[in-house]
Amino acid sequence: MSADDLTQLEFDQQHLWHPYTNVTQPGPTFVVKESQGVHLTLDDGCQVIDAMSSWWCMMHGHRNPRVTQAMHDQLDRLPHVMFGGLTHDPAINLGRKLLEITPDSLTRIFYCDSGSVSVEVAMKMAVQYQHAMGFEGRSQFATVRSGYHGDTWKAMSVCDPDTGMHHLFQGALSVQHFVSRPPIRLTEEWIDDPARNGLGDLRALLEANTEQIAGFILEPVVQGTGGMYFYHPEYLNQARALCDELGILLIFDEIATGFGRTGKMFATDFCSVEPDIICLGKGLTAGHISFACTMTNDRVATGIGGGNPGIFMHGPTYMANPLACVAALASLELLTEQDTYATVAAIAAQMRSQLEPARALPNVADVRVLGAIGVIEMTHRVSADQAHGLAREMGVFLRPFGNNVYTMPPFITTPDQLTQITDGMLRLAREL
Ligand code: PMP
Repeated sequence: MSADDLTQLEFDQQHLWHPYTNVTQPGPTFVVKESQGVHLTLDDGCQVIDAMSSWWCMMHGHRNPRVTQAMHDQLDRLPHVMFGGLTHDPAINLGRKLLEITPDSLTRIFYCDSGSVSVEVAMKMAVQYQHAMGFEGRSQFATVRSGYHGDTWKAMSVCDPDTGMHHLFQGALSVQHFVSRPPIRLTEEWIDDPARNGLGDLRALLEANTEQIAGFILEPVVQGTGGMYFYHPEYLNQARALCDELGILLIFDEIATGFGRTGKMFATDFCSVEPDIICLGKGLTAGHISFACTMTNDRVATGIGGGNPGIFMHGPTYMANPLACVAALASLELLTEQDTYATVAAIAAQMRSQLEPARALPNVADVRVLGAIGVIEMTHRVSADQAHGLAREMGVFLRPFGNNVYTMPPFITTPDQLTQITDGMLRLAREL
């Protein structure tokens, strides 16, 4: 049969790769024709709520008019131009806004294409900084277990070695240094004992490998893909002091947690310290176009600048793409003009009360909510394919992974729509 004779879905299944999918057994896949607000319209006209905010980024809903208008206007003026030797208002205006909302010490912005690339950039910055300071041996990284930082090589090397892809790519990945995930949960009382709060192990690891370690990278407060685990920010405050003592840079990957998702603008805002480098992505353009950035402080930036060769060795073709910059600026303006914190707090309160009954179900290990993140953790793995099978009937698109049935709803989700989502999650927790 020629490709011309295939239906759209048949063509997709025979020729297109999907994320983390078996190419010969791709599982149920929906053709989406249109999106608006919280809804996806499928090819049969059926509408489902996007309870995943399209992998956590679409916080103002699909096709937000302010974001799309900014992109339309920019498209007619300057859709793209190289950033080498050239600059433009969209990049500068977005930079001004980012400086307004991010931690004060982070003053230098590197725009790039995706979350994984922003992690690569962060790791490169750390290595180049250490080299510039005369520490040529410091090219490895420390991190916590259960972390996730992306699918490119260096990012993959600091993903959890068990749930990540280390076994598959053994020998090809850079060797890094892993310590247990921070053991004290966000809702638990902090214990000031290094033997119990994880900092004893962290100190031992960092001290044993100081000469090799350029940076300590982790997701602040919320580990996303590695288990939707929420931990105590005091761990980060004390890790900061430890990194300073040993000359190690602290890198926060806020790609999943940034822009209000946790109920604060950044998960860093739970802490009393700031990282040396931060990675932002996903919600940066509210899901309208791929974009990310890596921000750092003056110390790291001028350190790299003063070293040899002085120039920072990275520069993607689509760096600071103007369409992405205006989308991001429009999204950040919306985020700061509206009472985002109250909106997210209301979503959290409703999810807390509506997901609580799941705790009584036989296969449920835990129920937890932080900001607009709602999780039912099961005692077994949950099949995304089976969840997809129920999406049309529930009117809700959920894509569980690992043991977690979870939602990251768009912030514009109404209480009725949120009830539909939590009902769907309870159903999956009962039936899968
Ligand atoms: N870091 C974290 C914490 C993430 O959650 C993700 C994506 N899930 C990434 C990095 C990678 O981002 P991207 O998929 O845009 O490359």
